[in-house]
Amino acid sequence: MVVARSQTDGIAGKARPALRKPSEAPLSVERREALRAELLEEIPSWYVPWVHLFVPSSIGIAAIVVALSWIRDLHPAELLTVPAVYLLANAFEWWVHVNALHRRNPLAPVLYDQHTPRHHMLYLTDDMAMREKREYRLVLIPGYGLLLIFLGQVVVSSGLWWLGQPNVACLWVATSIAYAVSYEWLHFSYHLPHDHPVSRNPVIRKLAHHHAVHHDPRIMQRYNMNVTVPLMDWVMGTSVEEAPPR
Ligand SMILES: [Zn+2]
Ligand SMILES: [Zn+2]
Repeated sequence: MVVARSQTDGIAGKARPALRKPSEAPLSVERREALRAELLEEIPSWYVPWVHLFVPSSIGIAAIVVALSWIRDLHPAELLTVPAVYLLANAFEWWVHVNALHRRNPLAPVLYDQHTPRHHMLYLTDDMAMREKREYRLVLIPGYGLLLIFLGQVVVSSGLWWLGQPNVACLWVATSIAYAVSYEWLHFSYHLPHDHPVSRNPVIRKLAHHHAVHHDPRIMQRYNMNVTVPLMDWVMGTSVEEAPPR
């Protein structure tokens, strides 16, 4: 529908080139409903929400189990790989969110197109919940994207294996893939209805609030850029408790 496209700088970049600066004004309820209808209409008929939710994550969990089963004669110092990779992944998550999800990078424009004009225009701080299961496609990372992330970790860690550090390589794979799966499931849980049992968990509620504040279009380009635990937001000074009052 033209109504939605005119404010969302070209959904998926198909209708028209992306504007340099995304709109900081939230869409009206009517325009958001039009956008929701348009995005749902674009979802192919073969899409199965539960497959999208469980299959890529299950492949990731299987890879973690295999990687851990390959560890032999573990030295305690090698366990430092786990916090090191976690912190690295947290910093990478922040960096990608700032530089590829909220800025159109010519190397991967799809990241911006899926995130800023679609995900952010549809879900706002006060209205974060998915309304139906087909909306999983508007929240979850595409399945092929998650599998590419897993594959990338296997490639990186094979270098560590080649350098004579097989246990570090296995712990790298296990930690980085666990991080990617946790990103997927945490972000999914933030977009569940408020009365869902998962949403009522105090830890999830706290993390979900951090992400909901990020969904205010006025600050989405700059603040609360971590989606999992906001460690890098604290380091970079990009964490805010609330969006400024309107
Ligand atoms: Zn979100
Ligand atoms: Zn964002």
